[in-house]
Amino acid sequence: MTAPWTCPFCPLRCDDLVRDAPVRDDVVRDALVRDDLVRDDLVRDDVVRGAECPKRDRHLGDLAGGTLLGPLVAGRPASWAEALQAAARRLGDSAEVQVDGFAGDLQTARAAVATAAALAATLRLDSTATLSAVAAATARDGVTAATLADVRMHADRVLILGDPHAQAPRLAERFLTGIPQQILHFRPAVQGPAPPDAAAPAPGSSAAHAASDGAPLDVDIAPLPWLRSLLWRLSQQPETGAAEDKRGSPAAETWNGADHTATVEAIAGFLESGRMRAVIVMPGAFDAWAGAGAGQSELGEVGMGEVGTWLLRVIERLNDRGRGVLVSLDPAAAARQSQLWLTGFSGPLSFAARPVEPLLVGRGEPGADEADRSPEAARPVRVRLQPSWAASSASSASGPDGRPIGLESAERTNPTPAAPDSLVLLGDAATPPAVAHRAAVFLPVRWPGVDASGTTVRGDSTVTLPLGPLVDRQREGPAGEFTAAEALQRLAGQAVAAEP
Ligand code: SF4
Repeated sequence: MTAPWTCPFCPLRCDDLVRDAPVRDDVVRDALVRDDLVRDDLVRDDVVRGAECPKRDRHLGDLAGGTLLGPLVAGRPASWAEALQAAARRLGDSAEVQVDGFAGDLQTARAAVATAAALAATLRLDSTATLSAVAAATARDGVTAATLADVRMHADRVLILGDPHAQAPRLAERFLTGIPQQILHFRPAVQGPAPPDAAAPAPGSSAAHAASDGAPLDVDIAPLPWLRSLLWRLSQQPETGAAEDKRGSPAAETWNGADHTATVEAIAGFLESGRMRAVIVMPGAFDAWAGAGAGQSELGEVGMGEVGTWLLRVIERLNDRGRGVLVSLDPAAAARQSQLWLTGFSGPLSFAARPVEPLLVGRGEPGADEADRSPEAARPVRVRLQPSWAASSASSASGPDGRPIGLESAERTNPTPAAPDSLVLLGDAATPPAVAHRAAVFLPVRWPGVDASGTTVRGDSTVTLPLGPLVDRQREGPAGEFTAAEALQRLAGQAVAAEP
């Protein structure tokens, strides 16, 4: 038996797939399940049918091989009742609570908002430095936006900023077939001597590449000077060479003492050769440069907010001759929209104050201001939403194991506990055990799209899609007792009841 299935693992939310009910007489599967080594609903690698995707396969494989099937309290197995009670007691006792993490569906996002409101907590749903910068600039200045469907129908040139192969592998196949495209990776150059046989260009020599064959270009210039130079190039009068727009500058062309003229000219020429140009921003496009300062040119020290502003100026400039549109792909578009509808704000919020006010600082890493609170007791109890695939959705920067850097990877590679007595972690069977065992309370909840139903929004913030479970069967036993939304609601209810 098959049924339509929408993949929840990246901003594309591919809805052209079908799921297949697992075969129940698989001897190997039965043996593994009997020994509690895998979940029987995800063990088969043909649960999902459709176009190939390595990212989807990796996350399904992680879930199938996950071993965390029940709650933990202080690293020890507990019943759901015990775990919820322990978490609620901590929340009820704490003077300060933070609800944060990833919500890829409307149901979890609504529950997160309601839980934060009930607990007078701070709400910080995950975003990236790139998406925050683009969203802030767009909210302030507006932009000519488009959907992926618009791009597929009308665009004749597509510039992709970031790494679609890591963050949305089927982007080209589903939406960009036949459209000339160019990919730019903004990555600081790795300093130090190059291997003798290295074919890669030396730092600062990305100009050696030409944007002619659609192969990804590694741009080792900070995004801001590069965008300023692109705007300057796009503003040249073709007949006279004079600059029309004084806001741009050729800053990147001699950036850090290297000549990047060819790269900027190639991209400008690529965009100018079309009439309907789309710029697609991946979630972590500029994140490798977020916070850059020490050791970089002063042009790299400017905040990410400026990058969003200059990106919009490029789009504006493209609309002077022909058309230009911006599409940013947000893996948490559903959460952003849900929070906006419910609270009027899409950024971090504190429900501790009345009336509710948006927090204007610390939009990046959750708990960025915690360093100022030295006493243990002052540390907020943190309720974190973290399905196993969420960290990989946030950033395109690669860690030592080749996987994207995010909270999960950072915690996996750094065993130092951040706040072992103050973390209530809602994860899944594939949460790294080292992370789950460090939490005060770990709850392996069900997530829409994997083992629950829900509703999501594609990363271009336009299309609403259903999320369905990979299996239909009624669950029994302790594993997967509650969805993320149900667990949040129970935590809030019990915590409020337990308040002194
Ligand atoms: S491209 Fe993204 S949404 Fe589509 S199948 Fe792959 S991981 Fe899932």
